[in-house]
Amino acid sequence: PDDIQHPVSIGIEVAGNGAVIPLASGRPDALFDNDGQITKRPVRALTLSALAPKPGEHLWDIGGGSGSIGIEWLWSHPTTQATAVEIDPDRAQRIRANAARLGVDRLTVVTGGAPEALEGLAPPDAVFIGGGISQEMLETVWTTLPQGARLVANAVTLEAEVLLANWHGDKGGDLMRIELAQSKPLGRKRGWKSAYPIVQWSVTK
Ligand code: SAH
Repeated sequence: PDDIQHPVSIGIEVAGNGAVIPLASGRPDALFDNDGQITKRPVRALTLSALAPKPGEHLWDIGGGSGSIGIEWLWSHPTTQATAVEIDPDRAQRIRANAARLGVDRLTVVTGGAPEALEGLAPPDAVFIGGGISQEMLETVWTTLPQGARLVANAVTLEAEVLLANWHGDKGGDLMRIELAQSKPLGRKRGWKSAYPIVQWSVTK
């Protein structure tokens, strides 16, 4: 009936009443209020797959942005935990608002710059670096990473890509280049519009 109020209103129409959040990672970008700095849906799906959440595990989402990675990690299982670290105070506030609006009450949000802001956090089972990749960041994260824990880092700039290529050469793991194109209007027809390639390094320590 029309009078049922749903806790989450995200504007996605389904057959029935109210909005429903899909079950698989790589949910619609529009679910997460964002300022354009968001890991887009297909890349997010690949990233969650590489992060490979398991029950009870704790994620550090470094460069939280909109919080989409941390929130999708938490949706994978009710016992998972996540900490988002975001240097920009407005974005950190947006992460909190997204978590609250989407009914996620176990996302810890730290406003501050990594690697300094990582000090004192509960140890992770997996770490995602989605922003602020630098040699210092990789060194600190690698040193802090418990044995057997996983690290996934996404690079869009050449400078970050070089760092990931070097670290992959040194530590191993998987280096993947994600090249996606979507059809867009081209005059009265359509053409493939390429996104910036993303280089993703995944490794288990
Ligand atoms: N994965 C996010 C998007 C990340 S965009 C999402 O899906 O929404 C990269 C983010 O990293 C930006 O919000 C930027 O402010 C943040 N950032 C950059 N350097 C950082 C640092 N040293 N520590 C923490 N956050 C950082």
